[in-house]
Amino acid sequence: MLVNYAEKAVIQLMANVVEKIREQDAGACLCEICLEDVAASALNKLPPLYASSEPGDHVTESQLNELGGEQKIMAIIMNAALIIIKNPRHGIDRDIDDLVRDKAK
Ligand SMILES: [Zn+2]
Repeated sequence: MLVNYAEKAVIQLMANVVEKIREQDAGACLCEICLEDVAASALNKLPPLYASSEPGDHVTESQLNELGGEQKIMAIIMNAALIIIKNPRHGIDRDIDDLVRDKAK
């Protein structure tokens, strides 16, 4: 099976980011739409890392390093999360990457 390990890495690290956000802002929206937007936005900033795999495989240390290391990936997810959770897209027809770019200005 063909798998993008960048996607696996982001999904694997999302839980840590969600935990940090909950600590910082109890009112943050962490619904499925927002979390998928966060993952999508983070993934657009990471290079893809495709490999064949068995279902259930975990991301290896060397794959995390190939993507820039766990800390860097966490920071990318956190940046995406802080922007998206403060500006939930629910019902608003707007491209998330435009939103991220606007906020980065
Ligand atoms: Zn939401």
